[in-house]
Amino acid sequence: KGVAVVEKPLHVVSVSVEMAPIAKVGGLGDVVTSLGLAVQAEGHKVEVVLPKYDVLKYDLIEDLKEEEGFQWGGCYNHVFSGTVEGVKTYFIDPDNGMFKVGMIYGTDYLEIPLTDAERFGYFSRAALEWMLQSGRQPDIIHCHDWQTAPVAKVYWEDYHNYGLGNPRVVFTIHNLDFGQSLIREAMDYSQIGTTVSRSYAQEISGHDSISHQLQKFHGVVNGIDPDIWDPANDKCLPVSYEIDTVAEGKAACRAALCSRSNISNKSDVPLIGVVTRLTHQKGIHLIKHAIFKALERGCQVVLLGSAPDPNVQREFEDMANALKQNHFNDAALHLYFDEPLSHLIYAGSDMILVPSMFEPCGLSQLIAMRYGTVPVVRRTGGLADTVFDYDHDHAKAEWEGMTPNGFQFDGTEAHDIDYALNRAIDLFYNDIEKFHALQANCMSCDFSWNRPALDYIELYHAARK
Ligand code: ADP
Repeated sequence: KGVAVVEKPLHVVSVSVEMAPIAKVGGLGDVVTSLGLAVQAEGHKVEVVLPKYDVLKYDLIEDLKEEEGFQWGGCYNHVFSGTVEGVKTYFIDPDNGMFKVGMIYGTDYLEIPLTDAERFGYFSRAALEWMLQSGRQPDIIHCHDWQTAPVAKVYWEDYHNYGLGNPRVVFTIHNLDFGQSLIREAMDYSQIGTTVSRSYAQEISGHDSISHQLQKFHGVVNGIDPDIWDPANDKCLPVSYEIDTVAEGKAACRAALCSRSNISNKSDVPLIGVVTRLTHQKGIHLIKHAIFKALERGCQVVLLGSAPDPNVQREFEDMANALKQNHFNDAALHLYFDEPLSHLIYAGSDMILVPSMFEPCGLSQLIAMRYGTVPVVRRTGGLADTVFDYDHDHAKAEWEGMTPNGFQFDGTEAHDIDYALNRAIDLFYNDIEKFHALQANCMSCDFSWNRPALDYIELYHAARK
């Protein structure tokens, strides 16, 4: 008989500057919430610390109340607590007002005297100071990307020997593209480093902020929260549907999407969706090309995206106007951030396009599949780990216990994306039964946090060895 080893539940404090749905910019926000929930569901204690932005979605925070604050950093820091999607969350609100600037990121673009790096550097330290002053001794402090990377070094230099002795630090790279010197430092000072897919881990393993730390560096593919993204129970959709009602369900969602987008509903042609930040990473040039290619092939297109760079935002606004002026009534570009609309696009589209130049994990393709929408993606990072090509990846899919669920392309040119997009469109036009079967494959993939949460818990334990 084996002896059951009962490990004490871990206490994890996640220090983050994004958190879905109250302060979501991209995938980082989703991961902090849904990983937290999944780790909590395994019996551990999870708390998140977040800046108290003026732009938080306050109506989505339950039981918000003021706790004891602390004097530090030249001012008084108020602390609030609340519950977000079931995760206990603490908000730091310094009297210097640096998180009351009408935005999460972007002060570098404005004439506000503090950069994002300075504001989040302050927050990283303040979070540690709060742990110390509130008498917490978590087992794990989990910090994320360049924004809270400073936590790792500051913890070991200024806190570990000065009253906050218990924690070990886990650092997750959601995107290596930003703040690389901070990332190097966090890789050096954390006990475990992770990133959000195996392929991305491999792709960045030669990078000089990581290559000397490979022994503690792990790739864990992100999950999505199956309750937040659930076609069978989604307040943003006009109907609910499951795998055996996918055709009718998606048809109703498509009708709502077209009406919301002011385009006619041509139910017998593919509707191609795009939900993305509009940045170079996301393959803007391929997105633009694909919109025209899809229209040329008689498809409809709905894009939801916003650009942090005002020039890119303007380019897309010009493109939206040009499409309208030229009577392309089958394309709608929504150039802003809109969470409920994103749900409707995932549900109402036949395909989702994710042609990223690089993609640490990518949530968009995972969410799309959950709603029975076929991903057309560039073979990179987490896209390569989660999408299995309909024509080429049967063996690879089987190896992973999956079935082919989408279309992939290599390369970065227009003809490269055409190769994948054309095959997806052809399948829809030529064999709709097979296309529907592919949609069912997508819906039956398990991209929940069940497995990845266990991987993280194992890594949390490893960080304490
Ligand atoms: P990244 O973190 O690089 O932005 P991911 O694919 O990992 O990319 O995560 C993006 C998340 O943000 C997804 O949940 C996606 O649905 C959402 N998203 C991106 N742009 C928008 C937008 N304009 N409106 C609503 N949601 C968006």
